[in-house]
Amino acid sequence: MSRNLPVNAGRIAEDIAALAEITEPERPWTRRAFSPLFLKGRAYIEARMKAAGLETRIDPAGNLIGRRTGRKPWLGTIMVGSHSDTVPDGGRFDGIAGVISALEVARALSDQAIELDHDLEIVDFLAEEVSIFGVSCVGSRGMTGQLPEAWLSRASDGRGLAESIAELGGRPDVLMQQNRPDIAGFFELHIEQGPVLEAEKEDIGIVTAISGITRLEITIEGRADHAGTTPMDRRADALVAAAQLVLDIRNAAAELAKTPGHFAATVGEFRIEPNAANVVPSKVVLLIDGRAEIRADMEAFCRWLDGHVGKLAGAYGVTINTPNRVSDNLPTPGDAGLLATLEAACTRVGAKHRRMASGAGHDTAWIAKVAPAAMIFVPCREGRSHCPDEWAENDDIALGAAVLFEAVREMDKNSHEETPNGTHTG
Ligand SMILES: [Zn+2]
Repeated sequence: MSRNLPVNAGRIAEDIAALAEITEPERPWTRRAFSPLFLKGRAYIEARMKAAGLETRIDPAGNLIGRRTGRKPWLGTIMVGSHSDTVPDGGRFDGIAGVISALEVARALSDQAIELDHDLEIVDFLAEEVSIFGVSCVGSRGMTGQLPEAWLSRASDGRGLAESIAELGGRPDVLMQQNRPDIAGFFELHIEQGPVLEAEKEDIGIVTAISGITRLEITIEGRADHAGTTPMDRRADALVAAAQLVLDIRNAAAELAKTPGHFAATVGEFRIEPNAANVVPSKVVLLIDGRAEIRADMEAFCRWLDGHVGKLAGAYGVTINTPNRVSDNLPTPGDAGLLATLEAACTRVGAKHRRMASGAGHDTAWIAKVAPAAMIFVPCREGRSHCPDEWAENDDIALGAAVLFEAVREMDKNSHEETPNGTHTG
């Protein structure tokens, strides 16, 4: 690719490579939130923020923030960021590409001596991935007053989440009072973690919505009998009914996936009792992970499931409970104005783009609940992510960073008519 971009691709490559070095040596690439390596990674990012002229701080939720003051701070803050923590044996790009691209936006503005009207903040959100405390998006929830208070008393290996946030510079004592009414807009760049952009030879995905996640638990109870002596027509085999149910869920989800809006459902957890070779299975507990861009699809799926388990129970002589919604999050649409800004930015830098939904959760989903927010995807090889093979081409990331740069500038210009008391002139 030989494009004349407003950002420096070499600097992005250098930072991503430097962070990749900060890993558990036996398990590349692992830099889990709250670990000494995570702090080392953050120290690197903070030093790079300072070198870019940003004023750094850790906010009460433990997020690392680099700030650049604007000419009209009353307009609010344009925020750009992602996360630098990884899953165990994760990749070099999930989250990291977004943090470094955000940092590069600030550097490119400085290089070109561009002053913004808005304040600009570059953010490395704390613990986006599920950490040792078993929860995710700690920093983005915490920054915006959406962290469940009970989480603060979660503990792992004798360490509490609250004290761990304090150790890295956060303020658990004031965490529950956090909110950020000053956020005028938030942008996040992330690798797609799926195969669509690469397959369709697109440069950028404009994320229309982050799918809602609904988890449903189903218990199927049959009867334990001797596997050798019980005739085939006198069994209440919980596993046979469960196996049919798994196939039916796959087929129902595949039908919903053909209609507009992302939809997926997976049985990823499955327990069988007594799990012995010579006993007819008496009980199965399974957990469905459902993802829907359009809420009505999830409602339709749940209605179908409620009715279907009744029919299956009758057909297989087992009992099946009404599916229990263990957790249920609504889809989060991207801000329409910022999506248009991102599309215009793609056109300006010559990036081929398409609209698409995110099947994965992201920090953007939490920021979007309190402020205009939108995200973009860049391609990743074969859609692989959360594994050591995860790969994104640096040119693709740099093009994404250029889109962020143009979007930030455009958003900043669009607010020109605002006056200090918030009313429009003209
Ligand atoms: Zn991520």
